[in-house]
Amino acid sequence: MVNVAVLLVAAGRGLRAGGAAGGLPKQYRPLGGEPVLSRTLRAFLADPRVGRITTVIHPDDADLAEACLAAFQDDPRVAAPVAGGATRQTSVRLGLEALAEASPDAVLIHDAVRPFVGAGTIDACIRALEARACVVAGVPVVDTVKRTDGDGVVAETIPRDGLWRAATPQAFRFATIMDAHRRAAAAGIDHLTDDGAVAEWAGHPVHMVACEEGNLKLTTSDDFSAAERRLTAETFLRLPDVRVGVGYDIHSFEPGDAVVLGGVRIPHSQKLNGHSDSDAALHALTDAILGAIGDGDIGQHFSPADDRWKGAPSSIFLADAVARVTARGGIVAHVDVTIVAEAPKVGPHREAMRAAIAAACGLPVDRVGVKATTNEKIGAVGRREGLAAIATATIRLPVAP
Ligand code: MG
Repeated sequence: MVNVAVLLVAAGRGLRAGGAAGGLPKQYRPLGGEPVLSRTLRAFLADPRVGRITTVIHPDDADLAEACLAAFQDDPRVAAPVAGGATRQTSVRLGLEALAEASPDAVLIHDAVRPFVGAGTIDACIRALEARACVVAGVPVVDTVKRTDGDGVVAETIPRDGLWRAATPQAFRFATIMDAHRRAAAAGIDHLTDDGAVAEWAGHPVHMVACEEGNLKLTTSDDFSAAERRLTAETFLRLPDVRVGVGYDIHSFEPGDAVVLGGVRIPHSQKLNGHSDSDAALHALTDAILGAIGDGDIGQHFSPADDRWKGAPSSIFLADAVARVTARGGIVAHVDVTIVAEAPKVGPHREAMRAAIAAACGLPVDRVGVKATTNEKIGAVGRREGLAAIATATIRLPVAP
């Protein structure tokens, strides 16, 4: 198959997953910090035989889809989304019509909410099309299957031999499935729940190929929680080299009206003296990250003698340290900051600081600690001559080859 297109079906509203992520439809919800649809797109873009990917969306989701697809705007294989219809079957037909002009040899139709589809499954579907016209990925049923009557009483035990749970991708010679969909629509049939069924209705033999159990359809909020745990576990396994760095910083007070701490401006009777915005918390944290990767310190990368950093927001320094971790293929896994000050009070601003630091480090907020203590009126900090900060950063890196 030289010219393979992919049709991602993302036209559902996904109400069953309820609750989390502000009621976004499932395919646009973040998973491991990235929308589900983007993950699914990347899975197919990884196969060089895929020449075009069209996504069928709900007409109300144009903005969500655009935000997702913007990340792929440099890849000419990713086509503009197509608005779907009232049923899944209609949505797929409209997507196929949009692909018809490009006349691909084959099309893989896939649920956008199955982001874990494996390269092996995609390969098996494309290869199977060399000898077949209609191929459905699925999992053989291993459980005993019962059919019950209206009272929940078993009416029948169904032999599981030859039973499959159909999943996606479902792969077809393009002309075959396009024709089947057009004929079904012309016959007034619009409720078939997968494209294998459309091909069956049109009289075509449909062949099953086994896919991995992990090719899950994200349906409920439990599915999302389990998927999140799985991604975290996979990331941690991939990055077994765990490092901890520590950083310390202190700045003196001078007359002013606010201090910047943890990326948050706090109105105060003094300000911190220094070259940049003098955010001691972010300076300590930046040094902790640099320490964990053995890459010098903040003063080495951002000289106080350099006018570019005069009054600069310290988030620039933190972002640079995080980028140095990312460039090594690693992640910042956890950070913890302690601010030592008699004043101002940190408590009311703690959550804002955690959020700012989390965003800068690409971390969920529950992996950011911000704590505060006084110096018990002892020493320079105790005499309110300045404030100090201590930070640790936990970094995970791949093992060097
Ligand atoms: Mg400093």
